[in-house]
This record gives sequence, C-alpha cells and structure tokens, in this order.
Amino acid sequence: MLNKKSVDDINVKGLRVLVRCDFNVPIQEGVITDENRLVAALPTIKKLIADGGKIILCSHLGKPKGTPNPKYSLAPVAVRLSELLGQEVKFAADDEVVGENAKAAVAAMNDGDVILLENTRYRKEEEKNIETFSQDLASICDVFVNDAFGTAHRAHCSNVGVTKFVETSVVGYLMQKEIDFLGNAVNNPVRPLVAILGGSKVSSKISVIENLLDKVDTLIIGGGMAYTFFKAKGQEIGTSLVEEDYIEFAQKMMDKAAEKGVNFLIPVDTVVAKEFKNDAESRVVEGSMEADEMGLDIGPKTVALFSDALKSAKTVVWNGPMGVFEMPNFAKGTEAIAKALSEIDAITIIGGGDSAAAVNILGYGDKMTHISTGGGASMEFLEGKELPGVVAANDK
Ligand code: AMP
Repeated sequence: MLNKKSVDDINVKGLRVLVRCDFNVPIQEGVITDENRLVAALPTIKKLIADGGKIILCSHLGKPKGTPNPKYSLAPVAVRLSELLGQEVKFAADDEVVGENAKAAVAAMNDGDVILLENTRYRKEEEKNIETFSQDLASICDVFVNDAFGTAHRAHCSNVGVTKFVETSVVGYLMQKEIDFLGNAVNNPVRPLVAILGGSKVSSKISVIENLLDKVDTLIIGGGMAYTFFKAKGQEIGTSLVEEDYIEFAQKMMDKAAEKGVNFLIPVDTVVAKEFKNDAESRVVEGSMEADEMGLDIGPKTVALFSDALKSAKTVVWNGPMGVFEMPNFAKGTEAIAKALSEIDAITIIGGGDSAAAVNILGYGDKMTHISTGGGASMEFLEGKELPGVVAANDK
C-alpha cells in the first residue's frame, strides 16, 4: 500500500484545491480521440466537489515547449470534462497559466465549482522545475492534490515544485490505484507472476528486464526486441530490428534467468516479410531468416507457447506489443496475447503507452484488470525506481 496521504485524509470544505491531472490526451482537429485519461480522473474530482472544495484543475498537453500555442490549448478538455462530470468546468484561458485571468477566475469561485487552467507547459519554467511558476501555482491554492500518474516520473513545477510552497500535498485516487496495482503486481504478487515484454528496443527496457528477473516466475520476450536475443543465440535475423550493442546483455539475461530458475521464453517462430508494409508478402519462419527478410510479428507456435505459459498465471504484467501491431497483418500476435490474457483467471495489468493503445484498439480493454494511464511512469515503476511525483506528497 502507498504510504502517502490521499484525498481521503484531508478536509477541503471551502478551500482552493489545485489538482494536477494528466489530461495529456490525443486531440485531432479539436476532437479528443481517446478520453481514458479524462475518465480516469473523474473519481478524485467528484470526491473533491462532494466535499465542497473549489477545484482548480491543471495539466500539460503535448509539447508546446514553454510557449503559448493554441494547438496545445486545454480548451477542448474543459468542454469534454464538463459533459463527463455533468457540471460546468470553466476554462481559465490564460497564456501565463496563472495570470490575471486565471487569478480572477479563481477569486470568483464558489464551493463545489471546477475550473481548468491552461496547459502548464505554456510556461518555460514548468519542465525545468523553476520556482517562479511553482510559486504562482501555490499562490492560487490552499491544498495540492497530485493525481497525474502519467507525469509522476518527472519532476516539474506542477507536480513536484509546487509542493514546496503548499503545506498540504496529497495524492488522488488514480495515483493511489496505479501505484497499488503496479506495486502489488511486482512486489507482492499472487503467483505465478508472468511478465510479458515487447516493443522495439531492448535498450529502453534493460532496467525493466533486470528488475523483473528478480521478481517473476516467467519472463516472456516478444516484439522487435526479441531479435537481439535471437542473435545472441546465433540465429540469423536478416534485416530485423537488432541492437548489436545489447547482444551481450541479452545473453547475460538469459544466463541469469537460468541461474534463478526463471522460465525465460522468446519466440520459436516469426512472421517475416521483405518489406516494412502491411500488404508485404509474408511467411512464417522457425529458426534462421533469409538475409533479406525481417521479423514483424510472432508466429503461431509462439502464440501457442506464450498462451500456454499464461494459462497457470495468477498475475500478468504486460508492456510492449508482440509485433508491428499498427499494421493489421502483423497485429495477430499482439491480438492473440490480448485474447489469451482476457481468458485467464488472473490479475492482468497493462502498462501504459503502446500496450494500452493496442489492447484498447483490439477491443480487449474492458477484459483487463487494470490498464495504466502512464507509459513512461509505469515503465520507471517497473524498473523499481521511485517516482518524484509520488515522493513529493506528504507521508501518512
Ligand atoms: P516501444 O516504444 O519500444 O514499446 O515499441 C513499440 C513499437 O514497437 C510499436 O510501434 C511496434 O510497431 C514496434 N514493434 C514491435 N515489434 C516490432 C518488430 N518486429 N519490428 C519492428 N517494430 C516492432
């Protein structure tokens, strides 16, 4: 359990509550195309409304890099949040985020009102955690709530800096839920614990692999990163993704797994093509590929092998697709694993980012126990790192 004060430990009646959310959602031509992060933020907001606080929401959106830019305005989020909450969320348009307009909007609030500030990354200080912006944020609130799990691995003004200038800093329900699910899964799992890692690069997942090898009963590797392991085993991988500098690391991890008695599974067959495109002619290969072929998905024998290993699992953590899931013809392996997860009697946790997108796009989202709202944050948590956004909240 998370040893941090939460919204359940404070009384916000009549107080101005600044809530850092993660409203970094994809927006195309003013339309929010995936609102999971908005929905996930609702329980905390509703609780604070019910308690009679004056709720001031803030978040970043995309990368405006310290300059106001209408392309990254949070205005569409205020509109959709109003609909989801069934109550007006007033948008405090303000290029300075906490400028005259935002201050006036806060001053005019009644208990139970909700406003949303402009994108925190309009301010150049935000990502550098420079005090001037942290102080501005602190000046408009009495209490700070951090519910932005997706940003918890960063130390910015709006999630870490501000806590220095506000006496009471607590976490919200989403933050608690994310840490409880991910924390229990890796530190106190119902066993057997199986971790599935995929995606493109071994290099970006070194620490996750190292950390998880000490915790899991089975480690499954798929996706583009598997070919570096193939290479370590002496298999020819044609033009597949490979990180030559990590071949030795891959071998070391396989040796470590053997020493520790961890069941370490890599693909036994691969769907290969000569071109990186959806309609490229493909075939299934066991063992070495031809020099002009590249692996784009796991093959049917691998699906069977991985699915079989999942059958007895009681906890599963999955991060990274099994193939190039953005191309329907090479999404079959990822889909089969999502299906296998949906059919087992286990706690199933999906890391944020691409894995969450894949599971949702393929229609298995509601079959999982928990889909994280944080890509980078869930990865760093799986690496065993402390998240600065969480550390900054008051201890219980
Ligand atoms: P990552 O950002 O490292 O989690 O990787 C996610 C990306 O890995 C997705 O965009 C996938 O298309 C890509 N990917 C998965 N398998 C392969 C593969 N066999 N070859 C190339 N890219 C892959």
